[in-house]
Amino acid sequence: SKGTQADWIVKSHGLKHVSTGDILRKAVRDGSELGGKVEGILNAGELVSDAVMMDLIYEVISNISAEQGWLLDGFPRTEAQSKGLMKLLDEIDETVDFVIDIFVDNDEIVRRLSGRLTCEGCGYVGVAKNNLNNTCSKCSGSMRVRKDDKPETVLNRQEIFRAMTRPAKDVLANEYYVHRIDGHGTPAEVAQRIKSVLS
Ligand code: AMP
Repeated sequence: SKGTQADWIVKSHGLKHVSTGDILRKAVRDGSELGGKVEGILNAGELVSDAVMMDLIYEVISNISAEQGWLLDGFPRTEAQSKGLMKLLDEIDETVDFVIDIFVDNDEIVRRLSGRLTCEGCGYVGVAKNNLNNTCSKCSGSMRVRKDDKPETVLNRQEIFRAMTRPAKDVLANEYYVHRIDGHGTPAEVAQRIKSVLS
């Protein structure tokens, strides 16, 4: 998944990994004010409002130093978010070096997410067949199918995804070159394709 790819990219380039999905899920686990606001939306696989997402991105990005740099994972997802991001980058005099669009077909997405288990304690992600006892190898917490990884939720998320992300991508593509990466195959194969565009 995009999170797996994001992990090695941030490590090899010394970037800060900004996963909006991870931030939102953690807010839900922590029972914060933001968490309370977004819990139902996440469980339904719907999109959190642009206003909430822009507040979150402003806060996160302005707390990362320009020298460190960041990788945005899962953001922007709508046209308004893309425009908001451009405006923010303009204000802080920053730019984007790479845009990577990893594409996979619908069947593949449902197949992958349905086999995925997430630790309720620390958020670690594993594959069902490797976790028969459903215990997290990192913190011994219990591994469950994420509420938003149930097939019907995944399909709902896909529908929204297609309708909303295309214009988000178009806005980015006006400003930056978008590298399209084939997301089929093993994580190592996908990583190799990404490496060849980053180098
Ligand atoms: P992800 O882990 O990136 O698939 O995100 C999980 C869930 O968090 C999504 O299904 C949305 O409910 C929410 N979410 C994450 N990023 C965004 C975003 N940029 N805009 C709106 N909702 C988001």
